Amino acid sequence: MADYYNILGVTKDASPDEIKKAYRKKALKYHPDKNPGDSSAAQKFKQVSEAYETLSDENKRRIYDQYGEEGLKGAFGGAGGGGQGGFSSMEEALRTFMGAFGGGSGGGGSAMFERFFGGSGFEGDHYPSQGASKKIEVTITFEEAAQGAQKEVTLTNLVTCEECRGSGAHSPSDVKTCPTCAGHGQVNHTRGFFSMTTACPHCHGAGKVISKICNACSGAGKKKKKQQVNIKFPAGVDNGMRLKMAGYGDAGENGGPPGDLFVYVSVLPHEFFKREEDNLVIELPISFSDAALGTKKEIPTLTDSSFRLTIPEGIQSGKILRIKGKGFPNVHGGSPGDLLIRIIVETPVNLNAKQHSLLSELAKLESLQNSPQKKSFLDKIKSIF
Ligand SMILES: [Zn+2]
Ligand SMILES: [Zn+2]
Repeated sequence: MADYYNILGVTKDASPDEIKKAYRKKALKYHPDKNPGDSSAAQKFKQVSEAYETLSDENKRRIYDQYGEEGLKGAFGGAGGGGQGGFSSMEEALRTFMGAFGGGSGGGGSAMFERFFGGSGFEGDHYPSQGASKKIEVTITFEEAAQGAQKEVTLTNLVTCEECRGSGAHSPSDVKTCPTCAGHGQVNHTRGFFSMTTACPHCHGAGKVISKICNACSGAGKKKKKQQVNIKFPAGVDNGMRLKMAGYGDAGENGGPPGDLFVYVSVLPHEFFKREEDNLVIELPISFSDAALGTKKEIPTLTDSSFRLTIPEGIQSGKILRIKGKGFPNVHGGSPGDLLIRIIVETPVNLNAKQHSLLSELAKLESLQNSPQKKSFLDKIKSIF
């Protein structure tokens, strides 16, 4: 997994400005124009561009910090290209590069390099983007994990303002085409030989200006709102699993889709059951005489009912009795796990006089036939000498 902070050589708490500076330095060093035919430089250039693309975006950086690259794949539908390699093409990496250096379209070679040094820090980010994703942890009981459960949680999300439908304007007629850039969002400057395109200083790249802002959201287009969300935990869900609830995050930017809600499941341990994959495990202590003679025991289950288990005579400590299909349901709809009963044979302690004399009598009558394990052990020892 790529460590974007490491790639840019910045610390985790680096400011946006530090990230930008670090990226500029590295991108210039590895730029393909400076390293013609050097594929390792090209690879590095792609890596730093990918790191910058994520860390320069407040939303993406937050998701990356919380969930790593996996989170970004989920949240952005694999944007940024085919998995490990980051950008699928050099073109994408170069586009990020142009963005960071305040470039418009076109340009290349040395002309492009000139442009960076007079760069304006143009961001121009008015494309639709997904809203921030949220993370919550919800604790459920062992029984709820086995049977499935529903839980209501309260989230405070940024939602699209109903008054202005996200425009931020008091009324639709208060949204006007920007007079400075005529709606283009960009303005051209000429500096020496070079024509430079920067974000419109008036509308900051939006192409539109608002003459009177919406009172309900103070022009933000979004408001914080408490929402009740009903989370369904499927039967068989396990501790540490993550459920994704698509669309339950913050509202998107510029018409982009909302973020997602990631629910981290924490399952409380049970008093006497344990879970091993989908199997339900219980340790059953039985007495030495029950083990020797065989017995029947009431075994609890996760549902209210218990059942009677026949323990055969001569059972050994550590033996596991398996009841097929009585474990956890499989969360992916596969066949359920089994109930495993691990037998623990307890050697009797605190003997009274009568018990003591009976056991002494038994000891006198015992033969190797009663202890096959002991017999085979002694046979092995004999064969050595
Ligand atoms: Zn403008
Ligand atoms: Zn509003």
